[in-house]
Amino acid sequence: MEYDHIVIRYGEIALKGKNRKMFTSRLQENVAAQLKQFKAIKISMHRDQMYIVLNGEKPDEIIEKLKNIFGIQSMSVAIKTDNEVELIKQAALHALQSEQNAKTFKITTRRTNKEFPIGSQEFNHVLGGHLLSNTNGHSVDVHHPDVEIKVDIRAKATYITSRKILGAGGLPVGTAGKTLLLLSGGIDSPVAGFLAMKRGVQIEAIHFHSPPFTSERAKQKVIDLAQRLTEYGAKIKIHVVPFTKLQQKIHQEIPHGYSMTVMRRMMMRISETVAKDRDILSLTTGESLGQVASQTMESMHAINDVTNYPIIRPLIAMDKEDIIKIAEQIKTYDISIRPYEDCCTVFVPKAPKTKPKSDKVQYFEGLIDFSDDLKETIEGIETIDIKKDIGIDKELNDLF
Ligand code: ATP
Ligand code: MG
Repeated sequence: MEYDHIVIRYGEIALKGKNRKMFTSRLQENVAAQLKQFKAIKISMHRDQMYIVLNGEKPDEIIEKLKNIFGIQSMSVAIKTDNEVELIKQAALHALQSEQNAKTFKITTRRTNKEFPIGSQEFNHVLGGHLLSNTNGHSVDVHHPDVEIKVDIRAKATYITSRKILGAGGLPVGTAGKTLLLLSGGIDSPVAGFLAMKRGVQIEAIHFHSPPFTSERAKQKVIDLAQRLTEYGAKIKIHVVPFTKLQQKIHQEIPHGYSMTVMRRMMMRISETVAKDRDILSLTTGESLGQVASQTMESMHAINDVTNYPIIRPLIAMDKEDIIKIAEQIKTYDISIRPYEDCCTVFVPKAPKTKPKSDKVQYFEGLIDFSDDLKETIEGIETIDIKKDIGIDKELNDLF
């Protein structure tokens, strides 16, 4: 006898009433996409939980993948048996014996199948007795057991599980619409993307790139970040914006104290255009209040002034240390700290205004005609498809 299934529990999505079907089928698709490499497995959906039939695949690596899928509250490896007392006894014994360090245990039977001849309390005792007489040095502890063996007797089969493994929580990616993530090569924006995904949002990314001031390696960094994020959702498109010409013009024409604000406003305009074109209803940034000059209240006001689009800022109230902790956990940190220049650091003035006034910014912008440059920049956008595991597909200008 061996663990031949993984039970997946949904958590929050179980509460979502009518939408439940949509949530569970999306979760099933996401699980199937993340587990594509395990050819033998089958996924089977039930109302309150999902099962992965291992068909000989080893569970450990699969569980590592499942830990990244939003919408899963917890999971356990399970043994499936027919609804027969002797088989269930054997499986429960196997479950206890595979927990090598456990000395105390508890059995919890749940019997939704009322045709099963023994009541759950009584069956707890039957199984407990069987385990005690077939092991050495184990005892029952109903309050703080080292291991709780759960026996779930359902209509067609019984599932025996022991350890509960925590899932990522959140909602299945793709159930809460799409956002366009402004993805720099920094620490913050990938974390912002991750948090948006955790609430069920699918992402596309937009990156502003200024060759030759920023290198191919800076672009590769962003591709690698997006690749990491695909661990949490299926594929991610990156729209790479050739920003050099526009940035140089801003640098030449706008008083230096205001150039950063104008540059950010251009980023917002371009991002909004791309989002609209792709039916994406919001933008997401890695801004965190007070972190740098562009993230004061005044600055955000002046930058936000050019768009009516909702801007999601998952990190707005977070401290840098907490952001870094998440970046480490999702393994984007080591990519983010690779030392390549970002377009904003190259052109950043020595003393940007930390409290730019919207009307002044508008005044300086109004003196210059940027419309052709904006158009040309948008026309030059290159879209890269980042797919999980498979690598990269280039689709030049599939957008415009
Ligand atoms: P990050 O670590 O995400 O780069 P940051 O703390 O360095 O953030 P800023 O450089 O002020 O902060 O950028 C604020 C936000 O603007 C970023 O989180 C990101 O969403 C967006 N952004 C900045 N630079 C770029 C870029 N080159 N391409 C796309 N988005 C960018
Ligand atoms: Mg940055």
